[in-house]
Amino acid sequence: MSRDLSLHPCFNRSSSGSCGRVHLPVAPRCNIQCGYCNRKYDCVNESRPGVTSAVLGPEAAVRYMEAVLEREPRITVAGIAGPGDPMATPDETLTTLRLLKERFPQLLFCLSSNGLALPAHAEALAEVGVTHCTVTINAVDPAVAAPIYTWARDGKVIYRGRHAAEVLIERQLESIRRLKALGLVVKANTIVIPGINDRHVAEVARAVAALGADLHNLIPLHPTAGTPLEGLTEPSRAVMHELREACGAILPQMTHCRRCRADAVGLLGNDLSGEMSGCLQSLARASLSGVPRRPNVAVASMEGLLVNMHLGECHKLQIWGERDGAYVMLEERYTPEPGSPERWAQLAAMLTDCRALLVSALGQNPRKALEASGLAVHEVSGYIPTALDGVYGRADLNGMAAKRKKGAVCCGGGDGGGC
Ligand code: SF4
Ligand code: SF4
Repeated sequence: MSRDLSLHPCFNRSSSGSCGRVHLPVAPRCNIQCGYCNRKYDCVNESRPGVTSAVLGPEAAVRYMEAVLEREPRITVAGIAGPGDPMATPDETLTTLRLLKERFPQLLFCLSSNGLALPAHAEALAEVGVTHCTVTINAVDPAVAAPIYTWARDGKVIYRGRHAAEVLIERQLESIRRLKALGLVVKANTIVIPGINDRHVAEVARAVAALGADLHNLIPLHPTAGTPLEGLTEPSRAVMHELREACGAILPQMTHCRRCRADAVGLLGNDLSGEMSGCLQSLARASLSGVPRRPNVAVASMEGLLVNMHLGECHKLQIWGERDGAYVMLEERYTPEPGSPERWAQLAAMLTDCRALLVSALGQNPRKALEASGLAVHEVSGYIPTALDGVYGRADLNGMAAKRKKGAVCCGGGDGGGC
């Protein structure tokens, strides 16, 4: 079935009054860490922070799409934009798109990505009917990009600093090149970060234009609490106007982006997400039915990538779980203040939904208290998803046993409860 590519309200302003879009939250994980992103929220590269999505499985996404079209038949586009990066969980993303294409061949399909894992799946995306793609690219010079990204994970390799920036930029440019060669409509998003890339965005526009990108969307940084860039100021309207003027001479600019909610649905000027949220939440809950008691795992981690903290040092634990076959960090929980003899019993009471605790080390007292509550305690070190494979029975945890350094002690003020 041939589809009219002009009926995308974001890529074509003239259709925004008559055509709508829906964001389907089926992508919970991410493979990079942007300095402006707080994972409690959605991917800032496409939607504004502060709105947490439910996560749907592929079949639930199809059922939700049915409900959405019944309510608003003017929806022409189904998009996958988060809450993480769609290409960090390519199986879920591609399965969702395949099911959607079978059931709704008339729709346009759209995807937003940071680009790291996209080149490997560009052909597959075209095959499952993706017509419009957005690649976020904040810089084309690794020196500019390096302060923006903490790390990038490519398969089992983790890059940091300048290396992360180099790999990411190369993949982002390659993503655009491949998507254009496959005939997709491509938009580049650039988050404008004062003092970091605001003088560099025209260079980004030139690079992506040379690869055939169709549209450029400059998005002002929205400083988000709990991120390395939280102290920066959002660029003013005047600055954004000036930058769009300059970049507009190179590449058409999107000026009507609404920084939509991650569960945005409806026409750009008539959001129905409030009305549809009950349906979205109940389908998300249904996707999770059959989840066993104690489905989650508590993790002591400094940065959310590795199990690398002594329990006594931890002011907060991350709670990880499985969603649609992928591991996702669900929330962070502050541990009880040191000093109370009840500290470990209190902690046990806070972790009744967790089957295991992953820490690099802990003392005998907390171990006893936590194990008595039914929690399996593992002293391990290394990559969190690998350790989770061990907890969920998909790998052997023994190989990750933390090596205790001779004389190592907790430096977390372990005065609380005899840690
Ligand atoms: Fe966050 Fe999106 Fe960046 Fe991933 S790509 S770290 S979800 S803003
Ligand atoms: Fe369109 Fe911008 Fe909303 Fe994405 S965030 S759906 S590009 S208006």
